[in-house]
Amino acid sequence: MSTLVMKYGGSSVGTAAALRQVLGTVANETSKWDQILVVVSALDGVTDMLFETAQLARIANQRGYRRIAANLRSRHLAIIDQLPLERPDRHTLQAEIDRLLSDMLDQCRSIATNLNEELSPAYSDAVVAAGERLSARIVAALLRQHEIRCAAVDGADIMVTDDAYGNAHPDLALTRQRVEATLLPMLRSDMIPVVTGFIGATPAGETTTLGRGGTDYTASVLSALVDADELWIWTGVDGMMSADPQEVANAKVIPRLSYDEAADLAYFGARLLHSRMIAPLAERKLPIRIKNISLPQQTGTLVSTEPNESEPALKAVTSIHGLSLRRPASGSLAGVTRLVGNTLFKTLGMRTEVMIASQSATSSFICLVIPTSIGIDGVDRLQRALIAKMAEYPEKMPWEIGTVALVTAIGSDLHRAARLQAQLLDCLGEIEILGLALGASNCSFSLAVPAKEARSALRHIHGMIVKSD
Ligand code: ASP
Ligand code: MG
Repeated sequence: MSTLVMKYGGSSVGTAAALRQVLGTVANETSKWDQILVVVSALDGVTDMLFETAQLARIANQRGYRRIAANLRSRHLAIIDQLPLERPDRHTLQAEIDRLLSDMLDQCRSIATNLNEELSPAYSDAVVAAGERLSARIVAALLRQHEIRCAAVDGADIMVTDDAYGNAHPDLALTRQRVEATLLPMLRSDMIPVVTGFIGATPAGETTTLGRGGTDYTASVLSALVDADELWIWTGVDGMMSADPQEVANAKVIPRLSYDEAADLAYFGARLLHSRMIAPLAERKLPIRIKNISLPQQTGTLVSTEPNESEPALKAVTSIHGLSLRRPASGSLAGVTRLVGNTLFKTLGMRTEVMIASQSATSSFICLVIPTSIGIDGVDRLQRALIAKMAEYPEKMPWEIGTVALVTAIGSDLHRAARLQAQLLDCLGEIEILGLALGASNCSFSLAVPAKEARSALRHIHGMIVKSD
């Protein structure tokens, strides 16, 4: 029995042309696999718009959030107008879009009447979940129209999570029960479930989300639980790249990565994959392919067990925001790390470990990674919360809080590569290095540099990777 899970990101469902490619890729694989499961993101940019809607609801700006809802409606309706759907299906789909948006507006009204200082993710999750609900319906209707048996499935009915709203963690045992009751029978009867990524629900049924980019995580958990043979991630680029192509012009596709390399690449900033998605797949040695939806015949990137490299080599460089704390004194870090940990959990619903800590007789420095899954404003929110918290203990917490960039080179066996490490530091020239660390899986070498130097550091290191090829 062969099972394939395919995940379609926002750019692969964002336009009518991309949706036709979705249809093409599913149709192409149905004859090759016994079972197929599809997981979809919201249309490109829609989740951002929904977050904005929730923010406008918080300040009770009814005109503002209604305007975005109207934009979302026209965008989705325009897309289905361009799809080869028959009239009755088009009408059913239009009615579903209207119903989902009207539910979303109900949520906004409830936020507007329960105004509080910060918008709590418990409220915004219920609003932003609409994006995937809309796209899953559209994809399912399109496939159905082309005689592919399928049904849209709401992730909130399958993915059971904790209540860390905005960044929830799936409960695998409870989710497995739902998968067995719902998805496996569909797969066995030759039906393709088109599951909404990114969203889940607490055991009590409250909607949660798995963090930005969370559709990958849904796809990963479901791949593990349906015992898939492969997971394919369809995206708008050619695969995992040696650097962010928006920052570095000559970035190129990386043909193969080990699980550890992919996990570190995602953790240290490559937005293509969700940082927590690798573990469930690595445990089962389940291969992941990352492919470009516009060029489906290209092989893209394969993430699988160790490709047996002979020499340690660098494959990619990435960067991510880090938070830095500095104090002009030596001493125990226990108190401050506890305070940071608690504030982080309260503000963003996540835990993270100190990434770099260094001390001397006269000063202390700590640096933490802020994962991309918390969204673009996460660093700011956390910084504000920390400053407020520390102000409560001015004597004990004389820490200066700032941001740094963590620029990370990825490769295997970096602990055995002193020469590579030396070259890496050397290629940075005059760039100030605030701290450095070798990752525990020996696949990453991270440098904390001033935020304004991030791009230049990226380019220098990428230049070195390209030269060594
Ligand atoms: N739509 C969600 C986001 O924009 C989830 C995803 O795309 O993976 O973060
Ligand atoms: Mg993504």
